[in-house]
Amino acid sequence: MNSIDHSGLDVLISEVGPRDGLQSIQAIMPTEAKKAWIKAEADAGVPEIEVGSFVPPKLMPQLADTAEIVAYARTIPGLQVAALVPNFRGAENAIKAGAHKISLPLSVSETHSQRNLNRTHEQVFGEIAKVVALIGSLPEDQRPGFEGSLSTAFGCSIEGVVKQDKVVDIAARLMALGCDEVGLSDTTGSANPAQLRNMIRAVKAVVGDGNLAAVHLHNTRGLGLANALVALEENIFTFDASLGGLGGCPAAPGASGNIVTEDLVFMFDAMGIKTGIELDKLMQVREIVRKALPNEELYGFTPDAGYPKGYAAGKGWGL
Ligand SMILES: [Zn+2]
Repeated sequence: MNSIDHSGLDVLISEVGPRDGLQSIQAIMPTEAKKAWIKAEADAGVPEIEVGSFVPPKLMPQLADTAEIVAYARTIPGLQVAALVPNFRGAENAIKAGAHKISLPLSVSETHSQRNLNRTHEQVFGEIAKVVALIGSLPEDQRPGFEGSLSTAFGCSIEGVVKQDKVVDIAARLMALGCDEVGLSDTTGSANPAQLRNMIRAVKAVVGDGNLAAVHLHNTRGLGLANALVALEENIFTFDASLGGLGGCPAAPGASGNIVTEDLVFMFDAMGIKTGIELDKLMQVREIVRKALPNEELYGFTPDAGYPKGYAAGKGWGL
């Protein structure tokens, strides 16, 4: 597969700010600033970055330069370059641009699916089958990893509570269609730790332990890190997060930003869990984003409070 070896890490933090963050704000970040942001995070050791989404520029002008950004990010050694694709056409473009990994979101809430992707579940399954066939037609070393991502998996701002059975059924269907893995997204920041734990166990029981590798958490109600800790305990490897907590979802009213990358790295770093990320360097990346988006608020408890007295990043704390 066309991907990077991350076997030395305990967890893989995937920065999604350039996609999830930028898609939810009005301001358009200049292409050069995006490149500087991505480069600086990669230099800080961030192993994977979701650099954009292959949506029509008319719908999301903030991400119109995604192909150029993917091509640029591919020149950074050791960085796994991920992209979101809403459909087959987006997948074709992502593969052409050279993405290592592509994710296609399917909203467990069908109302959200129709509003966000303009498609019913059956239509999304059809797109996924076409993407699987396209990837299968490529030479083996050029095949991107393909994640079926279940969004609104814990609650939908339109439909309300989302049933676990529905999530499990869709996850099984995505694997049967040929996705390499599935991920669970708390698009609306509705999940709580007990619900997340049950959901991870139920999905893993059906798709297999290694095939549910990723969670995408939002911090809407302040439970982001509590949820991340539970996911860690349930053997989840990949954690999406956004620098400064930028993010949201234009089609899910009330959704707020992703969990903050700096806070997530601080938690793992203090716990002695290897992320490969240098926290000191990561903190400095905020300046690049702040300068490029002067009117956006950047969140983060650790950036606001600073380290505990005597804390040295990378060494654990009080263990
Ligand atoms: Zn999100």
